[in-house]
This record gives sequence, C-alpha cells and structure tokens, in this order.
Amino acid sequence: MAGIWIYSEDTIVAQQLMTMARPLADKLGQPLCVVTIAEQAAPEFVAAGANKVFVLKNDSDWPESYAPALVALAEQETPTAFFIGATFRGKDLAAKIAARLKTGLVTDAFAVRFENGEIETDRAMYGGLAVCTEILKGIAVVTIPPRTFDMPAKDSGRSGEIVTIDASIDATMAVENVCPIVRQGADITKTEKLVCVGRGLAKQVDMKLAEDLAGALGAELGCTRSIAEDYHWLPNETYIGLSGQKIKPVLYLSMGVSGQVQHIAGIRDSKVIVAIDSNENAPIFAAADYGIVGDLYEIVPLLIEAIKNQK
Ligand SMILES: Cc1cc2nc3c(=O)[nH]c(=O)nc-3n(C[C@H](O)[C@H](O)[C@H](O)COP(=O)(O)OP(=O)(O)OC[C@H]3O[C@@H](n4cnc5c(N)ncnc54)[C@H](O)[C@@H]3O)c2cc1C
Repeated sequence: MAGIWIYSEDTIVAQQLMTMARPLADKLGQPLCVVTIAEQAAPEFVAAGANKVFVLKNDSDWPESYAPALVALAEQETPTAFFIGATFRGKDLAAKIAARLKTGLVTDAFAVRFENGEIETDRAMYGGLAVCTEILKGIAVVTIPPRTFDMPAKDSGRSGEIVTIDASIDATMAVENVCPIVRQGADITKTEKLVCVGRGLAKQVDMKLAEDLAGALGAELGCTRSIAEDYHWLPNETYIGLSGQKIKPVLYLSMGVSGQVQHIAGIRDSKVIVAIDSNENAPIFAAADYGIVGDLYEIVPLLIEAIKNQK
C-alpha cells in the first residue's frame, strides 16, 4: 500500500514526527500512517493528521520486543519511508528493523524533503561541521531526534482508520529488574531559558555568579563537558553537546564557553544564542546572535543588576 510511516514508543515524539511527515505524505499523494503500541493514543494521532493508525497489541511493556511485529507489518504493507523517533529505544529498534528489512538506515536526520521524485534527508556530520544529504531507496528507515519538529495542530473532527493487530513479540529478552535513573538536576532539554557555564569560570565557588544570573532570568543551569566530566561542578546530565544533551531553548546564554564544535552541536537549535567571552576570536561568537566580548566577572554582575532593574 505504500505510505509514510511514523513510529515512536513516545507518543509526543511520534506527533512531532507527524509535523514533518504530513506535508511529505501530501506531496507524495500517500497516506500518513502511525504505528503505535499505545492504544489509547490512537485517536490523538488521527486528530493530529494520521490517515491510518496501526495499533500493535501485546502484553509486553518493552518496546524493543516489538521489532518482529514492526518488520512483519512493514514487509506486508511496504511503506515508502519509515520514520522512527531517535529516543534511546527508538535508535535500538530502528537498527533492528533496518537490518531485518535489509534496507538502509539514516540516523538523526534534521530535515526531510521530496525533490525530483526522491525523498532526501539531511543530517549533521563531523560534529556539525558538514551536512550529509542522503537519498532514500526502498523502505528506508530514518531516525529523527525528539524536538526536531514542533507538535502538530490537532483537529478532533479529522477522521482516520484505526487498525488493531495482535503483535507477535521477540521474547528472547526478559527484564528482571528496573532501576530508574535518579536525576540530579533539572531536565535541561525541556527548559525555555538556559545559562551555560564554561571553563572561563575560574573556581567552583564562582558558580554562585552563574546561579544568580540563572535565578534573575528564570533559567536553568547547563555547562560544557569539561565542567561536568572534569571538574564535576554540575551533574553529567546537564552538559550540552555532541556527547551531551541537545537543547532547544528560546534563550541560551553562555559565560566563558569557547564554543568548540562538539559543544555547538548541542545548542544550534536554540532560538537566541548570547555569548560572553573574553576572547573575541572564540568560535562561540560565530554561532551567537549576540556576543559580549569581555571579562565575565565584570559583565555578569552588571547583567544581573540590569535584569533585576527591569522587573
Ligand atoms: C569526542 C569529543 C566529544 C566531545 N563532546 C563534547 C560535548 O558534548 N560537549 C562539550 O561541551 N564539549 C565536548 N567536548 C569537549 C570540547 O571539545 C571542548 O573541550 C569543551 O567544550 C570546552 O569547554 P569550555 O568551553 O568550557 O572550555 P574552553 O574551551 O577552555 O573555553 C573557555 C573559554 O572561557 C573564556 N574565558 C576565560 N576566562 C574568561 C573570563 N574571565 N571571562 C570571559 N571568558 C573567559 C576563554 O576565552 C575560552 O573561550 C568533546 C570533545 C571530544 C573530543
């Protein structure tokens, strides 16, 4: 039947992918289908624009175990492209599906187009220094990171087909115990404003300056990898970049962050980037919308005062 397919065990991420996929499906003249293991979310997918929702039903709570069912459905229905949310679990599943379908896998795409009769994807490579454009052939599998696209507008008046399938699962893995990760700081991937600390801060006690700025702005604190992994001044889950968190705040404000490519990879989707650094040639200024060249120990107190005076 063809069609543009979406899957994520996270129903929010699945809807974000629909924002990209709906216009693509329209351009191709094909249905937009969502495959889900969350039966209760099926009407929401229809309201968000799905023409068809496949609900995979099984007692298993482990998204990984649905790979055989997803593969069997894809073999039967032969979608044109299969977009999967690049959560930890989605990445695992996408690799399994692509291998079993003997097809290609594009990872972490940030843009998808239909041009000259072909579907093209863009993804960053070399830590964000280059963009790799790939053309999809066969039932290509593509992963897309969470929050790459906004949520779609919903209309409860939309109609779509909901098909429930008894899914066979891969029962080779048994989960014995589940230990939730204890988060030490705020979830910086969801924050609207973020103050980022780099090695320009001379001593741990000076973190107070960053905390005061974050407090004045109503922002969360994040940092570079060096601050978390080398100095241990902030928890690991608050460092931003290629190997850290990818963030998308309205405001990212850095103090003493040089802006190496591995860090920039995590902040490039921020709406407004403001940088304070004493080195006018620091690469952060190439990525920044606003830059202040100077000593953060002079600038940040003035900034805090100015923000407070505005309130
Ligand atoms: C494979 C790999 C993956 C990596 N992944 C990540 C990642 O995910 N995230 C990440 O952040 N890094 C990552 N890194 C590390 C990265 O390359 C940089 O080393 C790191 O980001 C630098 O952190 P920084 O900006 O805090 O420090 P620095 O590069 O040392 O920069 C400090 C800045 O502070 C400025 N400064 C100093 N004093 C003052 C002052 N008084 N006032 C104002 N400015 C001042 C300096 O001019 C300088 O620009 C990775 C590296 C590798 C090899």
